[in-house]
Amino acid sequence: MRDIPHFIGGQKVDGASGRFGEVFDPNTGKVQARVALASAGELNTAIANAKVAQAAWAATNPQRRARVMFEFKRLLEVHMDELAALLSSEHGKVIADSKGDIQRGLEVIEFACGVPHLLKGEYTQGAGPGIDVYSMRQPLGVVAGITPFNFPAMIPMWMFGPAIATGNAFILKPSERDPSVPVRLAELMIEAGLPPGVLNVVHGDKDCVEAILDHPDIKAVSFVGSSDIAQSVFQRAGAAGKRVQAMGGAKNHGLVMPDADLDQAVADIIGAAYGSAGERCMALPVVVPVGEKTATALREKLVAAIGGLRVGVSTDPDAHYGPVVSAAHKARIESYIQMGVDEGAELVVDGRGFSLQGHEEGFFVGPTLFDHVKPTSRSYHDEIFGPVLQMVRAESLEEGIALASRHQYGNGVAIFTRNGDAAREFADQVEVGMVGINVPIPVPVAYHSFGGWKRSGFGDLNQYGMDGVRFYTRTKTVTQRWPKGGAVLDQSFVIPTMR
Ligand code: NAD
Repeated sequence: MRDIPHFIGGQKVDGASGRFGEVFDPNTGKVQARVALASAGELNTAIANAKVAQAAWAATNPQRRARVMFEFKRLLEVHMDELAALLSSEHGKVIADSKGDIQRGLEVIEFACGVPHLLKGEYTQGAGPGIDVYSMRQPLGVVAGITPFNFPAMIPMWMFGPAIATGNAFILKPSERDPSVPVRLAELMIEAGLPPGVLNVVHGDKDCVEAILDHPDIKAVSFVGSSDIAQSVFQRAGAAGKRVQAMGGAKNHGLVMPDADLDQAVADIIGAAYGSAGERCMALPVVVPVGEKTATALREKLVAAIGGLRVGVSTDPDAHYGPVVSAAHKARIESYIQMGVDEGAELVVDGRGFSLQGHEEGFFVGPTLFDHVKPTSRSYHDEIFGPVLQMVRAESLEEGIALASRHQYGNGVAIFTRNGDAAREFADQVEVGMVGINVPIPVPVAYHSFGGWKRSGFGDLNQYGMDGVRFYTRTKTVTQRWPKGGAVLDQSFVIPTMR
């Protein structure tokens, strides 16, 4: 049995707690490795190490820090195939999609390469008589990231890219379900020239997360995962006085207007609903056709498109999607399909009981489609996070906007239309953080920023882009006056003003 170690102080470190988590190959259903789960003691060692390394790293000039990022980007490109194969073997997504996972992280690294420019502060000459004011952005110290299973390359890089480029040291606590890629990324960062101790990977479960949240030397916590845990992380880390951003679950809606290009919309919806077996926080698991005619035509085309889907092992180049991450998750998805039936929705395509020849023990779920889903039902309210598309019919644009706006989650949303006015109204009114107009998965590019509303995001700064730079730095503002010598010019017992 292969053991997956921690990565602390620039090297792999075996777990000492005696506790391990099982890492499956979702294609076969077999355990392929075990991952060490850290004790609070092991975490403390990593943090102490990071604290020492951070001081020298913060004192390294930003261009030299950027050069590490440039080299890391090059190494990611060189090792793309190897990383994608490793990612697919633990997550289950198809190889091409694993490359997308890595690429979207790489693009944040590209943004982080611009850190000398991004860190430039502001300057005002002559803010008062002989007074200049300037501001600078300083790193926080040791910061931590806690990441979900579904993007084991992209989300760690969303976090450690900007955090490290701005001069922090980073403790990454990746998902214990697919932990190998994060360790490999940390190795590549060392190969790229990062000093040991600046990036550490500590595996663990709830115990390790709570130790991170309570540790006085962790100055900020970035979390991505399910909403209940995001909320508790937000509260606990906040109560400990840390800066915290915590992204949660999602249930993204796609509105299809009567004037939409239906063939293109169907192609987009199918890819966004079933790609990565629906295990994306920016998947599109709810489709809202506006008007009966649209619903009838859309349903017909969706059923035909689903008939053409190929579910296969992650290494199958022709597969549209692979297995889900675990047996427990497969069982949970199937129980939600049953719930949908019990709640009275019409099960148009049933993906339960799907079996792939030669991989009967793999965690596969076939594509599933529901129609006439009620907005009051629990299977609509909850995040299913599987290849299940739910159709909720609406009569008008306003009703569609209200549906997405009233939902507990507000991560992403899309509208398919040819009407610019309707699209503009939609983007303006909908209470969701990221909007796509004829774009099914509107994950913003690396120089904008990523964040959902309502129960999809706790905290006030988004991931990456300028928000990422702001999250991992604090602003210091200096007001300076240099004495010319001679008599004392002024003394005041009144607060200085600019009158
Ligand atoms: P998860 O909440 O189970 O786990 C996320 C992280 O929290 C992992 O590192 C895990 O080890 C840790 N964790 C698990 N239980 C914990 C507990 N009780 N206390 C403290 N920490 C705990 O999420 P997941 O299943 O790995 O990922 C899927 C979820 O993540 C979905 O809800 C998905 O929508 C969400 N997600 C959100 C975004 C976003 O940006 N909004 C992006 C990707 C995934």
